[in-house]
Amino acid sequence: MDQQLNLLIQLQEIDAKLRALAAQKKRLPEFLAGLERRREASKTDLDKVKEALQTAQKNKRDRDQDLEAGAQKVEKLKAHSAEIKNNKEYQALLKEIEAGEQENKAIEDSILGLMEKIDAAAQGITAAEQRSRDEEAALAAEQKQLEAEFAKLDEEMGGMEQARKETVGKVQPTVLAQYQKLLVSKAGGVAIAEARGEACSGCYMSIPPQVFVNVKKNEKIITCPHCGRILFFKEVIAPKNG
Ligand SMILES: [Zn+2]
Repeated sequence: MDQQLNLLIQLQEIDAKLRALAAQKKRLPEFLAGLERRREASKTDLDKVKEALQTAQKNKRDRDQDLEAGAQKVEKLKAHSAEIKNNKEYQALLKEIEAGEQENKAIEDSILGLMEKIDAAAQGITAAEQRSRDEEAALAAEQKQLEAEFAKLDEEMGGMEQARKETVGKVQPTVLAQYQKLLVSKAGGVAIAEARGEACSGCYMSIPPQVFVNVKKNEKIITCPHCGRILFFKEVIAPKNG
């Protein structure tokens, strides 16, 4: 095979790998944003439980005040009873006292309910804080792993770029210019196309027989008459690792 053609095939492989590595690398911010979203969700979860506790505490304070006012009211009514001589009025007062006491009892019950809520919320906070710590540890571990993976990608890219430099150094300037032009203009950066079944694998158009005969020889740079890609024939090329 023509050495230049062979170099271009190598170069194409390197460029394809570089392209794939760059695409992988581009995903890092997306992955990090995913971790950040989970971190936010974990924080929101904890905030919600804390808010529930604060609400229950405020409600209890309000009910405590209600109870105090209610107790004062009953005390006042009781103090008033000594002044009453009339039986009818006295019965009415007793009823009022009883109603007040019942109301206070209902407030006490609701306070008990709120105290249970407060206990539950406090426990919920402990659990949510634990979950939050566990999640943060998991996120930190995932982030560390991601960063290690991406550092490895960088390293791989560095190696590939070095390999590219070395390969490019051996390609004739005019051939290289032709390749570079195709690399940026063709979809997916496919500058070199295999001639497969007498068709260009880049544009899928058939290659004229007299052109194909020469392409099969892999002796020089021949371009596809339709898309301009550099053509090569695979059967003549030794297996990649052979
Ligand atoms: Zn073509």
